[in-house]
Amino acid sequence: MTYGDGTISVWAGEDHPLWERSTQVPIAQTVSFGYRDVDEWTAVAVGREPGHIYSRNTNPTVAVFERRIAALERAETATAFATGMAAISGTLRTLLGPGDRVVSVTDTYGGTTKLFLEFLPRDGVDVELVSTDDRDAIEAAIAEGCSVVYLESPTNPTLKILDLKRLAAAGRAVGAVVIVDNTFATPINQRPLELGADLVLHSATKFLGGHADALGGVVCGRRELIEQIFHYREINGATLGPFAAYLLQRSVKTLHLRIERQNQNALTIARHLDAHPAVEQVFYPGLESHPRHEIAAGQMKGFGGVLAFSIRGGLDAVKQVLPRLELAHLAANLGAVETVAGPPGTTSHVEMTAAERATMGIPESLVRYSVGIEDVTDLIADLDQALDIAVP
Ligand SMILES: *Cc1c(COP(=O)(O)O)cnc(C)c1O
Repeated sequence: MTYGDGTISVWAGEDHPLWERSTQVPIAQTVSFGYRDVDEWTAVAVGREPGHIYSRNTNPTVAVFERRIAALERAETATAFATGMAAISGTLRTLLGPGDRVVSVTDTYGGTTKLFLEFLPRDGVDVELVSTDDRDAIEAAIAEGCSVVYLESPTNPTLKILDLKRLAAAGRAVGAVVIVDNTFATPINQRPLELGADLVLHSATKFLGGHADALGGVVCGRRELIEQIFHYREINGATLGPFAAYLLQRSVKTLHLRIERQNQNALTIARHLDAHPAVEQVFYPGLESHPRHEIAAGQMKGFGGVLAFSIRGGLDAVKQVLPRLELAHLAANLGAVETVAGPPGTTSHVEMTAAERATMGIPESLVRYSVGIEDVTDLIADLDQALDIAVP
């Protein structure tokens, strides 16, 4: 039986008898799991029988979350981490060693860019970051040979789009492992494995969790790869805790509803801001004017809940407009049921200088606006009153 995304979001991963007949996933808030005798214990410890030994390695609440996300991504299996960055660094460190080459783009998430520029080179990894806008140059860099291709689409915060099918094919042609950070899209909007990627990963902190109250990360793919990444994680120790796993799996039950609403709200707001006199430019792949709109429409079911816009009047205008928003947390987060807004200088690209942001094409007049599930008419009225002072 194959189910749709709504059914999978609600039910997947719960196919084990639950504790004391509870209908909801229990929080196995325990370090270890006890056995009656050494033979039974050994059978589980060596993997001959299913079960759990110690929660740094596996935990039943965490396992429900892992199975649910794997099902949504149509992956064989998944392994969860304490944060999105733990998932990204754990995955890259599993796959890359001295002398290996990784090809990625200049617009990855700020923390990921730091891994590429600051930490992986220390391990002797050869990192090549190519301009996100230059598909030919990315393909050429891949064709020179590499062991990992690392992609992200849409990107943060300027919502650039990579042609995932084409770049995944280029990676596979040279035998590379192709990884996609699917945090912005979620599996409701985009399924990179079906586009040819080998691994798909998430900051579960964002849309998967959706309520801005739990950190987590997850990577999905075929068993042979995930087992290697799991092994790195169980030894290096950036494990997802059972309480966070409980919150995350509970939130995923409404993922499809939240994402549908956030897709609609974001598109409506992007169109509204596009015609607003105080707004210079709107960055949203759902707008026909987006340079990669056609590619986005081909690989995404919806265009996601994050947009960005630049305001006339630069950073000064941003500083005046943001505090006037009543229906937005000014905070370094995205993907929540509440709208969240902020400039890249304090959110996605806080680690970079203004000059570095400028060379990346991130204007200081930019606002990243992560649309919640509120009534869109209220959000538009709120934006209009806040932007009023910036109208020339
Ligand atoms: C937030 C984010 C991350 C990092 O996730 P954490 O859970 O904060 O570690 C990675 N990739 C993208 C696209 C993100 O938005």
